[in-house]
Amino acid sequence: MKNNIARVLINLSLNKYFDYKIPETLLDEVKIGSHVTVPFGKSRREGCVVAIIESTSYLKEIKEIERVSDRKPIIPRNLIELGEWMASYYCCSKEQAMRALLPGSVRSGKISRKKVTFLYIEDSQKASEFLFNKGRKYPAQEKIVQFILQHPDVSIGTLKVRTSCSDSSIKSLEKAGIIKREMRNVLRDPFGDSELVMSEPPELTDEQAVAVREITNMLDKKSRFFTALLFGVTGSGKTEVYLRAINEALNLDKDSIVLVPEIALTPQTTERFRARFGNQVSVLHSSLSDGERFDEWTKIYEGKVKIVVGARSALFAPFKKLGLIIVDEEHENSYKQDEAPRYNARDVAVMRSYREGAVTILGSATPSLESFYNAKHGKYELIKLTKRIDDRLMPSVSVIDMRAEKAGKGNTIFSRDLISAVYDRLNKKEQTIIFLNRRGFATHLTCHACGYTANCKNCSVDYTYHRSKDYLACHICGDIIEATQNCPQCKAQNIKYSGVGTEKIEDIATKLFPLAKISRMDSDTMTNRKSYEDILLNFRRGKIDILIGTQMLAKGLDFPNVTLVGIVNADLSLHIPDFRAAERTFQLLTQVAGRAGRGVIPGEVFIQTYTPFHEAIKYAVNHDYEAFYNYEIPTRDELSYPPKTHLAVIRFSGEEEDKVSIVAEEFIEKLSIIRNEHLIFSPVSPSPISKIKNKFRYSVMLRGNLSYKQKTFIKSLIFNEFKNKKVNIIVDIDALNLM
Ligand code: ADP
Ligand code: ZN
Repeated sequence: MKNNIARVLINLSLNKYFDYKIPETLLDEVKIGSHVTVPFGKSRREGCVVAIIESTSYLKEIKEIERVSDRKPIIPRNLIELGEWMASYYCCSKEQAMRALLPGSVRSGKISRKKVTFLYIEDSQKASEFLFNKGRKYPAQEKIVQFILQHPDVSIGTLKVRTSCSDSSIKSLEKAGIIKREMRNVLRDPFGDSELVMSEPPELTDEQAVAVREITNMLDKKSRFFTALLFGVTGSGKTEVYLRAINEALNLDKDSIVLVPEIALTPQTTERFRARFGNQVSVLHSSLSDGERFDEWTKIYEGKVKIVVGARSALFAPFKKLGLIIVDEEHENSYKQDEAPRYNARDVAVMRSYREGAVTILGSATPSLESFYNAKHGKYELIKLTKRIDDRLMPSVSVIDMRAEKAGKGNTIFSRDLISAVYDRLNKKEQTIIFLNRRGFATHLTCHACGYTANCKNCSVDYTYHRSKDYLACHICGDIIEATQNCPQCKAQNIKYSGVGTEKIEDIATKLFPLAKISRMDSDTMTNRKSYEDILLNFRRGKIDILIGTQMLAKGLDFPNVTLVGIVNADLSLHIPDFRAAERTFQLLTQVAGRAGRGVIPGEVFIQTYTPFHEAIKYAVNHDYEAFYNYEIPTRDELSYPPKTHLAVIRFSGEEEDKVSIVAEEFIEKLSIIRNEHLIFSPVSPSPISKIKNKFRYSVMLRGNLSYKQKTFIKSLIFNEFKNKKVNIIVDIDALNLM
């Protein structure tokens, strides 16, 4: 007998499956991953079949599935299983996990294939007769027939543009049985008409060759590893290793997924993959239109492409023969989703590869301590690229002690050394990058008469002053208020601006270097993909001398003519109340420094700081990741922070502060059942950003490895007992954001 019970996940956040009988007539149609309509209470709901089973434990009579949707694609079984794993690992509901598997445009079922009308010659005999006998009399129609003969299968749109013909001429030819129209499905092309310049693979360096050989061994299963950490210094040619690895996967007829951290980065990166593999590459990222995303997804689903490059969610590309997942810049925080499911694409990549017999490559010049720890302890294979391509030198890095600079009457923002180095580059027509990880003009506003400070009315943070728009903005909730000269509290004209952002840097640079061409790249100026592409193109063409920006600049940019990098206020990220502050600072400094000297001329980097002796800065000067790792690990171990153990944050938020803190205490009280010596609970306390959008925030940190059972218990508290307490409770497993 055939299994005829379907386990259905309904689009309600119940974290529960429901069993339905599959009627005889639908037995062939209902599959795992099918979308179905089922009776639910007094109404109907849509749901997704996650399993087909023989019998149910449900005691009452079960209802029947009513309909199978043919508009929505079947979610592949491998992804459904991955979704179930995510729900249990990340402590979220099954619905939340399943939602992550499909792009919204596919999930909604509202988008469909784009249809275009094509014209072709129906009867070539009639066509030649027409041209011979009547053509001269009907020149417009003659033009159409000739055009279609020269361009068989032309879309009606193209024909109209190229021949300026009218609808009536087309209709007459149709009536005469000479041409015919047909509606066809076409793919929307996110690359548009952009030209594809193919590149030849360069000869590998020795280190690259070793790396490729080891990965090939992993793909061929001649190795016990299925995850490799590709730890390669900036400019060591990691991308070339990825390209070769993909090529090996293709040789085995396997599919590859390439994850890149920042969407803004994709044009440059995607181009390198397209230049090697042409139309076998698909892209999935957030700046595609819904229709484009639907089509890209469909191409993958139907096996029409074998490579996908994209941001976090591209991890769920519906490939059926997955061979390889590459996670570029694996240390990036943007791989972690900050709403449910709060998954880290890097970690889920390793899990997906494990389940589907694929290989994961995690690449970085500054690996997360977690990944390096795993590599050191034999969980991942460690592959190193220690040299830059062509034996180019790592940039020389100097630290500038801004305390001394200030005492010596230097400028407090640009040190004298940095100024003269910039002049030197301007003279030599080389390019400079100036980095400061904070946007805006001034980051604090205080009244020196009454002590008023400008805080966001919704959040517990300062407003930032943006001079070009002349307003104050909250970088947390986006609230904007007018900037005033007079103190809103005491009306005195004694408002002082302090704290520097990139806008101010640009202002100072314009005054210091009046003849230089200066541009700024941060999320205020990069409002869309086009502005990002434009600025990068201008920089590449040498139309910009000095590029000022935030961490957007730190990511993977490869500009050979950049020989100077200045890092203003390197301490910023050190003072954040987060145990990863030193790690993040080290990564950021090393990555930004790595933008210098990637061409033939060696690079130079100035790090301006008030804490020149901090280890994160000291080791960044020597590009010495392993020394930093060895320095940092003992502290982490001592305090039971990752990488040796895991960390989860439970966050409580709501409009009444008292209530939030009481519920948090109650919740933790309940959790005492699962407490044991391997699990450390920090006390309930307000989060570092204690209010966002008028919601007060409290949190508790759990250090230690939560078992499946413990997670299930936490989940049951959230979804049942604490559901109606009017305090929002979330669990963030392997949390990266502690603010
Ligand atoms: P990484 O990602 O490690 O910082 P990239 O992959 O961007 O480094 O490589 C740096 C530069 O070196 C790029 O311009 C790339 O085209 C070039 N490159 C990579 N491998 C080779 C090679 N084997 N021979 C010549 N040039 C190479
Ligand atoms: Zn705010």
